[in-house]
Amino acid sequence: MLTGKVALVTGAGRGIGREIALTLARNGATVIVNYNGSKERAEEVVESIKEQGGNAEAVQCNVADFEASAQMVKDVLGKYGKVDILVNNAGITRDNLIMRMSEQDYDAVLDTNLKGAFNMIRHLSKAFLKQRYGKIINISSVSGVMGNAGQSNYSASKAGLIGLTKSVARELASRNVCVNAVAPGFIETEMTDVLSDNVKDNLKNMIPLGKLGSAQDVANLVLFLAGNNADYITGQVIHVDGGMVM
Ligand code: NAP
Repeated sequence: MLTGKVALVTGAGRGIGREIALTLARNGATVIVNYNGSKERAEEVVESIKEQGGNAEAVQCNVADFEASAQMVKDVLGKYGKVDILVNNAGITRDNLIMRMSEQDYDAVLDTNLKGAFNMIRHLSKAFLKQRYGKIINISSVSGVMGNAGQSNYSASKAGLIGLTKSVARELASRNVCVNAVAPGFIETEMTDVLSDNVKDNLKNMIPLGKLGSAQDVANLVLFLAGNNADYITGQVIHVDGGMVM
């Protein structure tokens, strides 16, 4: 159980982040539901948590913005006194073949997916060190491990997250802060809704378990890593992908 813990989940208004927020809250955590553009959906997540007797708050912030994310961390620490669990989930795609990829699409994906996680960890690390406790969970991707044609920007950001995870895990381990990455395969959310049925069928052929995953599949792993049963696990990349990478 996560009773008494405070969790901050980035990009938690919809998709995988939403399910992570609901799952952590169901298990007793107070959840800060960060969103960038999806205000109403983030507020709906907060309402669902409250209806189930939990505690949550929606907070707007573009995590790619260094100053804005510093302010969000300051506000949250000011109000709740601590953050025990940070889930860097916010992410975007801007797919294209490398020879057609614009500089803007490359930068946008790196800024949100990789720099966003850096910003959050950078601003929270002092608090984690002081409290000598913390769980940082970075949502990477199978694309960051295997690569994926048409996703060089996204794959670079997700591979970068793995390097970030391992380095920060080494830096913070002596203060009992665990840092891990979760690498989902193909999960049914708005991010994968855009794929054609043909692409989805091809993907299923690459997945030993023969189906796309659900946001709950990812949230279950995050819940485990966020709790005390994972106290001796740090610097790892754990796959939740139906066996795509093995
Ligand atoms: P999604 O449905 O498109 O949701 C993306 C989330 O990221 C939204 O909540 C969005 O918030 C948030 N976000 C985007 N830019 C942000 C920013 N600058 N600041 C704060 N929040 C921001 O995607 P998803 O499938 O749930 O993906 C969640 C994470 O899992 C991503 O990191 C993704 O790369 C990773 N992942 C997904 C899959 C998959 O198959 N779906 C597989 C592997 C990894 P707003 O709506 O408020 O802007």
